[in-house]
Amino acid sequence: MQRQNSLPYDQSAAAEWSAIVLATPEPCRAALDRLMTRDGEKLAHYFYEHMLSHPQASVFLSAEAVHQRLHQSMTRWLREIFRHPMDDTAGIVAHQRLVGEVHARIQLPVHLVSRGARLLKHHLHLSLAGEFSDAQLCAQASTYANGLIDLALELMSVSYERNSQREARTDEAYRLFAIGQNVGVERERQRAVLMEWTNEVMLALHRAGPAPLPALRKSEFGMWFHHKAIAMFEGDSEVEHIVDIIERIDNVILPLLRPRDGAAGEIDRVGDLQDEVDNLKFLLATLFERNQEAENGRDALTRLFSRRFLPAVISREINVSQKRKSSFALMLIDLDHFKRVNDTHGHDAGDLVLQQASSLLLSSVRNGDFVFRYGGEELLVMLVEVTQESALRIAELIRSKFETSPFSLSQGRSVSVTASIGLALFDGHPDHQYLVKRADAAMYEAKQSGRNRVVLAP
Ligand code: GH3
Ligand code: MG
Ligand code: MG
Repeated sequence: MQRQNSLPYDQSAAAEWSAIVLATPEPCRAALDRLMTRDGEKLAHYFYEHMLSHPQASVFLSAEAVHQRLHQSMTRWLREIFRHPMDDTAGIVAHQRLVGEVHARIQLPVHLVSRGARLLKHHLHLSLAGEFSDAQLCAQASTYANGLIDLALELMSVSYERNSQREARTDEAYRLFAIGQNVGVERERQRAVLMEWTNEVMLALHRAGPAPLPALRKSEFGMWFHHKAIAMFEGDSEVEHIVDIIERIDNVILPLLRPRDGAAGEIDRVGDLQDEVDNLKFLLATLFERNQEAENGRDALTRLFSRRFLPAVISREINVSQKRKSSFALMLIDLDHFKRVNDTHGHDAGDLVLQQASSLLLSSVRNGDFVFRYGGEELLVMLVEVTQESALRIAELIRSKFETSPFSLSQGRSVSVTASIGLALFDGHPDHQYLVKRADAAMYEAKQSGRNRVVLAP
């Protein structure tokens, strides 16, 4: 299991987990461990049966294959949380977070999980009654079972919330990209409003009097930056720097230029203001430049869609496929021995090959299909409304095009590059990441079995 960075919340949850375990007599813990080994599958069945009886659940969990798999993981989950002796509480806690993340990705409503858990607990208590002749031990075992199930659910909900916010942000980014917001226009407008504010300050300085200078934070630029840009450029290091500069201008430089108490301002500080405004302009230009391609949703080298929108695009397709009962496929394409191309012909030559490989893909798929740059020399195609047969045919066509058409380099040189392709058909599993993982595993299989081939994920 991949362990994520431990959060403070997780640490205290791990301590609580241990406290529940320690407060429970050993025979109770041993009994629950035994019960899960024996009846885990049956209990998992109750959980899903009740969850599925809710109309909203059938959308998520309709496919038989999915049902089967979730049933198995539910059984594993029950055995895991009641394992005795329990020696890895941090691992357990981290795992609950991962489960919450998956639920968020598939947007499984929290109330359905609570519903399943409620009925599961009911059956669990009935089973426990049969395990103990001692009423007090039985009660302690029930308290223990409730405590662990509730704590696990609590942890899932925490990470569910965090992750569904993240998913919502991706959707929003996708929306901006889909409606084709024009970053270039925004950039010019913000440069202009910043200049306007500077002019206003200069004019105010020439008008003597006690009126305070206009604050940058309250200007049109300041409003735009704090409300829109921070969301647009979330995560970029320049953002904090800009926030600091705005604060320094408003709280340090402007008061020096015109103190509130009516004393004479230090007009020779205008140079400081000019310097900070120049810094702002530079940081903004950097931010806009870096985000221009990303906001357009395109990768700078290949002009393919950037990976950033992959979750949103696949999720949408999953919804469409579930509604229309159609299928789609992901094709993960990794160029073979690409390092050699760079080593032999140089990095620029490698870039040329990547660009031509992208054109090759675009010319091999239909208008409604999506082509992404997934990683360095890994490209990903989403084929919409395909059968397994037609997806395999397209993948094979692409593979053979790679094999038979050399890529042109400078000075009339050319190079042959083959590709290994992993193909995964949507199988009803509502988690977009799961589908990508299947395509990735198939691609790995293609590499392992000799490269220059197509492997279909099971
Ligand atoms: P294989 O996949 O067949 O196992 O071999 P490989 O040589 O392709 O393997 P690996 O994935 O380890 O190497 C990928 C190389 O692709 C490494 C990196 O230098 C190169 N690469 C990644 N992105 C770019 C890029 O944007 N431009 C260029 N020129 N090279 C890139
Ligand atoms: Mg690679
Ligand atoms: Mg490679």
